[in-house]
Amino acid sequence: MKTGYLIDMDGVIYRENNLIKGAPEFVSALLATGTPFLFLTNNSAPTPEDLAVRLKHLGIGGISARHFYTSALNTADFLCETDPTCTVFVLGEGGLLTAFHQRGIANDGIRPSYVVVGEGTPTMERLAKAHECIERGARLLATNPDNWCPVGPEKTRPGAGATAAFLEASTGRRAYFLGKPNGYMFHRACRRLKEQALGTPESIVMIGDTMETDIRGAVEAGISGYLVLTGSTQLELVGDYVYQPTRILQSVADLTPEILTGTPSDRLDSPVFSRGESPRDRGGNRHQTDVLSLYKPRPRPAMTK
Ligand SMILES: [Mg+2]
Repeated sequence: MKTGYLIDMDGVIYRENNLIKGAPEFVSALLATGTPFLFLTNNSAPTPEDLAVRLKHLGIGGISARHFYTSALNTADFLCETDPTCTVFVLGEGGLLTAFHQRGIANDGIRPSYVVVGEGTPTMERLAKAHECIERGARLLATNPDNWCPVGPEKTRPGAGATAAFLEASTGRRAYFLGKPNGYMFHRACRRLKEQALGTPESIVMIGDTMETDIRGAVEAGISGYLVLTGSTQLELVGDYVYQPTRILQSVADLTPEILTGTPSDRLDSPVFSRGESPRDRGGNRHQTDVLSLYKPRPRPAMTK
Protein backbone atom coordinates (compact mmCIF):
# COMPACT_ATOMS: atom_id res chain seq x y z
CA MET A 1 0.00 0.00 0.00
CA LYS A 2 1.28 3.43 -0.95
CA THR A 3 1.39 6.85 0.62
CA GLY A 4 -1.71 8.89 -0.17
CA TYR A 5 -1.54 12.63 -0.83
CA LEU A 6 -3.90 15.50 -0.03
CA ILE A 7 -2.77 18.38 -2.24
CA ASP A 8 -3.59 22.07 -1.98
CA MET A 9 -3.92 23.76 -5.38
CA ASP A 10 -3.22 27.52 -5.38
CA GLY A 11 0.46 28.03 -4.59
CA VAL A 12 1.21 24.32 -5.05
CA ILE A 13 0.04 23.37 -8.57
CA TYR A 14 -0.52 26.86 -9.95
CA ARG A 15 -0.36 30.50 -9.00
CA GLU A 16 -3.13 32.59 -10.48
CA ASN A 17 -3.21 31.32 -14.07
CA ASN A 18 0.34 30.00 -14.28
CA LEU A 19 1.39 26.44 -13.64
CA ILE A 20 4.19 25.97 -11.15
CA LYS A 21 7.30 24.48 -12.74
CA GLY A 22 7.34 20.71 -12.38
CA ALA A 23 3.70 20.43 -11.29
CA PRO A 24 2.47 18.65 -14.47
CA GLU A 25 5.21 16.03 -14.13
CA PHE A 26 4.33 15.60 -10.44
CA VAL A 27 0.65 14.97 -11.26
CA SER A 28 1.63 12.65 -14.14
CA ALA A 29 3.77 10.64 -11.72
CA LEU A 30 0.84 10.29 -9.31
CA LEU A 31 -1.43 9.08 -12.11
CA ALA A 32 1.18 6.77 -13.69
CA THR A 33 1.96 5.01 -10.41
CA GLY A 34 -1.65 4.73 -9.24
CA THR A 35 -0.83 6.77 -6.15
CA PRO A 36 -4.02 7.82 -4.33
CA PHE A 37 -4.47 11.59 -4.15
CA LEU A 38 -7.07 14.31 -3.70
CA PHE A 39 -6.84 18.01 -4.40
CA LEU A 40 -8.01 19.78 -1.26
CA THR A 41 -9.16 23.38 -1.61
CA ASN A 42 -10.82 25.98 0.59
CA ASN A 43 -12.41 27.59 -2.46
CA SER A 44 -16.12 26.79 -2.22
CA ALA A 45 -17.09 28.60 -5.45
CA PRO A 46 -16.26 26.00 -8.15
CA THR A 47 -17.62 22.47 -8.47
CA PRO A 48 -15.16 19.55 -8.80
CA GLU A 49 -16.07 19.43 -12.50
CA ASP A 50 -15.16 23.14 -12.87
CA LEU A 51 -11.78 22.49 -11.23
CA ALA A 52 -11.01 19.51 -13.50
CA VAL A 53 -11.70 21.72 -16.55
CA ARG A 54 -9.51 24.48 -15.12
CA LEU A 55 -6.58 22.09 -14.68
CA LYS A 56 -7.12 20.75 -18.19
CA HIS A 57 -6.94 24.26 -19.65
CA LEU A 58 -3.76 24.88 -17.67
CA GLY A 59 -2.23 21.77 -19.22
CA ILE A 60 -2.86 19.04 -16.64
CA GLY A 61 -4.97 16.24 -18.11
CA GLY A 62 -6.24 12.92 -16.80
CA ILE A 63 -7.96 14.53 -13.80
CA SER A 64 -11.66 14.04 -13.07
CA ALA A 65 -14.15 15.35 -10.51
CA ARG A 66 -13.38 12.49 -8.09
CA HIS A 67 -9.88 13.91 -7.58
CA PHE A 68 -11.20 16.99 -5.73
CA TYR A 69 -12.54 17.69 -2.27
CA THR A 70 -13.63 21.30 -1.74
CA SER A 71 -14.78 23.17 1.36
CA ALA A 72 -18.25 23.28 -0.28
CA LEU A 73 -18.41 19.46 -0.35
CA ASN A 74 -17.10 19.39 3.21
CA THR A 75 -19.83 21.80 4.39
CA ALA A 76 -22.53 19.72 2.71
CA ASP A 77 -21.06 16.51 4.22
CA PHE A 78 -20.98 18.16 7.64
CA LEU A 79 -24.64 19.21 7.60
CA CYS A 80 -25.71 15.87 6.08
CA GLU A 81 -24.03 14.03 8.95
CA THR A 82 -24.87 16.34 11.85
CA ASP A 83 -28.29 17.76 10.88
CA PRO A 84 -29.68 15.94 7.83
CA THR A 85 -33.14 17.57 7.90
CA CYS A 86 -31.82 21.14 8.14
CA THR A 87 -32.46 23.95 5.66
CA VAL A 88 -30.01 26.64 4.53
CA PHE A 89 -29.85 30.22 3.30
CA VAL A 90 -26.73 30.37 1.14
CA LEU A 91 -24.40 33.25 0.32
CA GLY A 92 -22.25 31.50 -2.23
CA GLU A 93 -21.62 30.30 -5.75
CA GLY A 94 -22.36 27.26 -7.90
CA GLY A 95 -20.01 24.87 -6.12
CA LEU A 96 -21.77 25.36 -2.79
CA LEU A 97 -25.31 25.42 -4.18
CA THR A 98 -24.64 22.23 -6.19
CA ALA A 99 -23.15 20.43 -3.17
CA PHE A 100 -26.29 21.12 -1.12
CA HIS A 101 -28.58 20.20 -3.99
CA GLN A 102 -26.80 16.86 -4.51
CA ARG A 103 -27.23 15.98 -0.84
CA GLY A 104 -30.89 16.99 -0.71
CA ILE A 105 -30.42 19.98 1.62
CA ALA A 106 -33.13 22.53 0.87
CA ASN A 107 -32.75 26.28 0.40
CA ASP A 108 -34.89 28.33 2.76
CA GLY A 109 -35.17 32.13 2.72
CA ILE A 110 -37.74 32.34 5.51
CA ARG A 111 -36.65 30.40 8.56
CA PRO A 112 -33.48 28.44 7.68
CA SER A 113 -31.58 26.35 10.23
CA TYR A 114 -28.29 27.85 8.99
CA VAL A 115 -26.96 30.81 7.07
CA VAL A 116 -24.06 29.35 5.11
CA VAL A 117 -21.38 31.75 3.88
CA GLY A 118 -19.10 30.68 1.04
CA GLU A 119 -16.76 32.32 -1.45
CA GLY A 120 -18.37 34.96 -3.67
CA THR A 121 -19.49 38.57 -3.67
CA PRO A 122 -22.97 38.81 -2.13
CA THR A 123 -25.05 41.94 -2.65
CA MET A 124 -25.97 44.13 0.30
CA GLU A 125 -29.54 42.92 -0.19
CA ARG A 126 -28.47 39.26 0.28
CA LEU A 127 -26.35 40.22 3.30
CA ALA A 128 -29.35 42.01 4.84
CA LYS A 129 -31.48 38.93 4.22
CA ALA A 130 -28.86 36.70 5.85
CA HIS A 131 -28.74 39.10 8.80
CA GLU A 132 -32.54 38.82 9.21
CA CYS A 133 -32.38 35.00 9.08
CA ILE A 134 -29.74 34.97 11.85
CA GLU A 135 -31.84 37.38 13.91
CA ARG A 136 -34.70 34.88 13.57
CA GLY A 137 -32.51 32.07 14.94
CA ALA A 138 -30.44 30.68 12.07
CA ARG A 139 -26.91 29.60 13.02
CA LEU A 140 -23.93 31.03 11.13
CA LEU A 141 -21.64 28.65 9.27
CA ALA A 142 -18.81 29.51 6.86
CA THR A 143 -17.20 27.16 4.34
CA ASN A 144 -13.70 28.42 5.10
CA PRO A 145 -11.93 31.01 7.26
CA ASP A 146 -9.97 32.86 4.54
CA ASN A 147 -10.39 36.63 4.88
CA TRP A 148 -8.90 37.27 1.48
CA CYS A 149 -7.68 35.28 -1.51
CA PRO A 150 -5.03 36.09 -4.13
CA VAL A 151 -6.27 36.73 -7.68
CA GLY A 152 -3.10 38.24 -9.16
CA PRO A 153 0.47 39.18 -8.26
CA GLU A 154 -0.66 42.43 -6.65
CA LYS A 155 -4.37 41.81 -6.26
CA THR A 156 -6.61 40.05 -3.75
CA ARG A 157 -10.35 39.67 -3.30
CA PRO A 158 -12.43 39.40 -0.11
CA GLY A 159 -12.95 35.80 1.06
CA ALA A 160 -15.70 33.95 2.95
CA GLY A 161 -14.04 34.85 6.28
CA ALA A 162 -14.60 38.55 5.57
CA THR A 163 -18.26 38.01 4.65
CA ALA A 164 -18.77 35.98 7.83
CA ALA A 165 -17.10 38.78 9.83
CA PHE A 166 -19.65 41.24 8.41
CA LEU A 167 -22.52 39.09 9.72
CA GLU A 168 -20.74 38.46 13.03
CA ALA A 169 -20.51 42.23 13.49
CA SER A 170 -24.13 42.92 12.51
CA THR A 171 -25.71 40.09 14.54
CA GLY A 172 -23.30 39.58 17.43
CA ARG A 173 -23.28 35.83 16.64
CA ARG A 174 -20.06 33.91 16.05
CA ALA A 175 -19.53 31.86 12.91
CA TYR A 176 -18.29 28.28 12.81
CA PHE A 177 -15.67 27.79 10.09
CA LEU A 178 -15.28 24.57 8.11
CA GLY A 179 -12.57 24.04 5.46
CA LYS A 180 -8.86 23.84 6.24
CA PRO A 181 -7.57 23.80 9.00
CA ASN A 182 -10.80 22.42 10.54
CA GLY A 183 -10.31 18.78 11.53
CA TYR A 184 -13.62 17.79 9.92
CA MET A 185 -12.21 18.76 6.50
CA PHE A 186 -9.18 16.52 7.05
CA HIS A 187 -11.25 13.72 8.58
CA ARG A 188 -13.60 13.53 5.58
CA ALA A 189 -10.78 14.01 3.05
CA CYS A 190 -8.80 11.13 4.60
CA ARG A 191 -11.92 8.97 4.49
CA ARG A 192 -12.36 9.78 0.77
CA LEU A 193 -8.74 9.03 0.05
CA LYS A 194 -9.08 5.61 1.68
CA GLU A 195 -12.16 4.88 -0.43
CA GLN A 196 -10.25 5.89 -3.55
CA ALA A 197 -7.25 3.76 -2.55
CA LEU A 198 -9.58 0.79 -1.87
CA GLY A 199 -7.91 0.40 1.51
CA THR A 200 -5.92 2.35 4.02
CA PRO A 201 -2.82 4.06 2.57
CA GLU A 202 0.41 3.35 4.42
CA SER A 203 0.51 7.01 5.36
CA ILE A 204 -1.22 10.24 4.37
CA VAL A 205 0.62 13.45 3.54
CA MET A 206 -0.84 16.95 3.17
CA ILE A 207 1.09 19.16 0.71
CA GLY A 208 0.40 22.90 0.94
CA ASP A 209 1.85 26.39 0.81
CA THR A 210 0.04 27.97 3.78
CA MET A 211 1.05 27.38 7.39
CA GLU A 212 -2.26 28.48 8.98
CA THR A 213 -4.45 26.15 6.93
CA ASP A 214 -2.49 23.33 5.26
CA ILE A 215 0.22 22.65 7.82
CA ARG A 216 -1.77 23.45 10.95
CA GLY A 217 -4.60 21.20 9.74
CA ALA A 218 -2.19 18.35 8.98
CA VAL A 219 -0.54 18.58 12.40
CA GLU A 220 -3.90 18.61 14.18
CA ALA A 221 -5.18 15.69 12.07
CA GLY A 222 -2.11 13.62 12.94
CA ILE A 223 -0.83 13.30 9.37
CA SER A 224 2.39 14.54 7.74
CA GLY A 225 2.47 18.11 6.42
CA TYR A 226 4.85 19.05 3.59
CA LEU A 227 5.28 22.78 3.03
CA VAL A 228 6.15 24.01 -0.48
CA LEU A 229 7.79 27.40 -0.95
CA THR A 230 6.04 28.19 -4.25
CA GLY A 231 3.12 30.01 -2.61
CA SER A 232 2.28 32.22 0.32
CA THR A 233 4.95 31.19 2.84
CA GLN A 234 8.55 32.40 2.87
CA LEU A 235 11.12 30.12 4.46
CA GLU A 236 12.20 32.89 6.84
CA LEU A 237 8.74 32.94 8.44
CA VAL A 238 8.32 29.23 9.15
CA GLY A 239 10.11 29.48 12.49
CA ASP A 240 7.45 31.91 13.77
CA TYR A 241 4.85 29.16 13.99
CA VAL A 242 4.24 26.80 16.89
CA TYR A 243 3.28 23.99 14.50
CA GLN A 244 5.92 22.93 11.98
CA PRO A 245 5.89 21.08 8.68
CA THR A 246 7.25 17.54 8.51
CA ARG A 247 9.28 18.54 5.45
CA ILE A 248 9.92 21.73 3.51
CA LEU A 249 10.20 21.48 -0.28
CA GLN A 250 11.15 24.05 -2.88
CA SER A 251 8.21 22.77 -4.94
CA VAL A 252 6.21 19.60 -5.62
CA ALA A 253 8.81 18.76 -8.27
CA ASP A 254 11.04 17.62 -5.37
CA LEU A 255 8.61 14.75 -4.73
CA THR A 256 8.37 13.40 -8.29
CA PRO A 257 11.43 11.08 -8.12
CA GLU A 258 10.21 9.66 -4.80
CA ILE A 259 6.77 8.91 -6.25
CA LEU A 260 8.24 7.28 -9.36
CA THR A 261 10.85 5.15 -7.58
CA GLY A 262 9.30 4.65 -4.15
CA THR A 263 12.66 5.62 -2.65
CA PRO A 264 12.84 8.66 -0.33
CA SER A 265 14.58 11.54 -2.08
CA ASP A 266 17.63 13.22 -0.59
CA ARG A 267 16.19 16.54 -1.77
CA LEU A 268 13.68 16.47 1.06
CA ASP A 269 15.77 17.85 3.92
CA SER A 270 14.14 20.69 5.75
CA PRO A 271 16.44 23.66 5.21
CA VAL A 272 14.83 25.60 8.05
CA PHE A 273 16.10 23.07 10.57
CA SER A 274 19.60 22.83 9.10
CA ARG A 275 20.33 26.55 9.30
CA GLY A 276 22.69 27.67 11.99
CA GLU A 277 20.81 30.90 12.50
CA SER A 278 17.61 32.45 11.35
CA PRO A 279 17.54 35.63 9.24
CA ARG A 280 15.97 37.48 12.16
CA ASP A 281 19.10 36.85 14.24
CA ARG A 282 21.00 38.97 11.73
CA GLY A 283 18.40 41.69 11.39
CA GLY A 284 17.10 44.30 13.78
CA ASN A 285 13.61 42.92 14.24
CA ARG A 286 13.82 42.50 17.95
CA HIS A 287 10.18 42.57 18.86
CA GLN A 288 7.33 40.50 17.57
CA THR A 289 5.49 43.66 16.54
CA ASP A 290 8.41 44.57 14.28
CA VAL A 291 8.26 41.17 12.64
CA LEU A 292 4.55 41.58 12.10
CA SER A 293 4.90 44.99 10.55
CA LEU A 294 7.64 43.85 8.21
CA TYR A 295 6.49 40.43 7.13
CA LYS A 296 2.79 40.12 7.85
CA PRO A 297 0.88 43.19 6.73
CA ARG A 298 -2.42 41.33 7.09
CA PRO A 299 -3.41 38.31 9.14
CA ARG A 300 -4.74 35.61 6.82
CA PRO A 301 -7.62 33.65 8.36
CA ALA A 302 -10.09 34.54 11.07
CA MET A 303 -9.98 31.65 13.46
CA THR A 304 -13.04 29.85 14.66
CA LYS A 305 -14.46 29.68 18.15
MG1 LIG B 1 -2.58 27.39 -1.23
